[in-house]
Amino acid sequence: MSDPVLVTGSAGFIGFHTARRLLERGERVIGLDNLNAYYDPALKQARLAQLQAYPNYRHHTLELADRNGVAALFAEHQPGRVVHLAAQAGVRYSLEAPETYVDSNVVGFLSILEGCRAVSASNLVYASTSSVFGANRALPFSVRQPADHPLTVYAATKLANEAMAHSYAHLFGFPATGLRFFTVYGPWGRPDMALFKFTRAILKDEAIDVYGEGRMSRDFTYVDDIVTGVVAALDRPAAIDPTWDATAPNPATSGVAPWRILNLGAGQPVPLMRYIEVLGAKLGRKAKLNLMPMQDGDVADTEADVTDTLAALDYAPSTPVEEGVARFVDWYCNFYREN
Ligand code: NAD
Repeated sequence: MSDPVLVTGSAGFIGFHTARRLLERGERVIGLDNLNAYYDPALKQARLAQLQAYPNYRHHTLELADRNGVAALFAEHQPGRVVHLAAQAGVRYSLEAPETYVDSNVVGFLSILEGCRAVSASNLVYASTSSVFGANRALPFSVRQPADHPLTVYAATKLANEAMAHSYAHLFGFPATGLRFFTVYGPWGRPDMALFKFTRAILKDEAIDVYGEGRMSRDFTYVDDIVTGVVAALDRPAAIDPTWDATAPNPATSGVAPWRILNLGAGQPVPLMRYIEVLGAKLGRKAKLNLMPMQDGDVADTEADVTDTLAALDYAPSTPVEEGVARFVDWYCNFYREN
């Protein structure tokens, strides 16, 4: 029997979907989540209840920054493979509570790296974000461009993760893949994100706040496509790149460690107004708009260059927004009818 996979953030949006995919293919999954109250705890509990219905799932309610607690979990279960998705997410909240981001995303990430070191992990896959690209970038965003000007503390903590992972992969030899997710949406999604807020407001016939005066575009990526990329990275660990050229600016592969950074995005940006239109059509209502200026820390447009991801993981996202939004709305209406 293969070793168990540790999935952190398993009561969260992407962690839940990832844990479920792994359980469905017969893996043993150890879940870790502190079940914090950043958003609706009932939604996290409902996701967790789904996972706990699988006999191969074991949950630990644990704080990432609790180094001894995380070390004990690694010692008990010896997870050779780790998918680290727990983090304080959200760009805007990091303007209000920067310390939460440093505690969960930097101090907490160190606990995971130390755990991987202790068990000589065979693979670490962790979530980074398109936010590390910062502002005024040429589109599409390529992992081969240096990313060194994060606009928010959230982005800064994720960039720190990429650097920390590089040093651990180099010093201790375990493969590490950082995946820069681009605006993920879908069923069981996060209530602090646009699709969730827009749906709630449209159903209540309230106006929705549309930042950037509605001129932004996002590389909205359906959650199943993200999970496919995460699992592919788990199955194909990073390796030292023998072709690495020290004179070429190629931040994606270091050449001196089994480490890489890949974009996980649809690669097909959608104007925010089009996204709202698709949502309104599915709900059968016209959205009322409250056009607002751009917020601090926001970037106008995002678009993933997935050339390297395709080469490394054979990754081809396939869900059009019409289909993804429709699946979200079906889930949302069903979930809130029953809960
Ligand atoms: P989420 O908030 O739904 O999930 C994160 C989970 O981690 C939550 O259940 C939370 O309780 C848990 N958690 C947070 N801090 C913790 C701590 N200190 N100790 C233990 N558990 C803790 O967010 P998500 O959307 O599922 O995001 C998953 C990962 O993907 C995060 O790392 C996030 O930064 C990254 N990401 C998400 C998106 C997106 O669009 N959803 C985009 C880019 C990157």
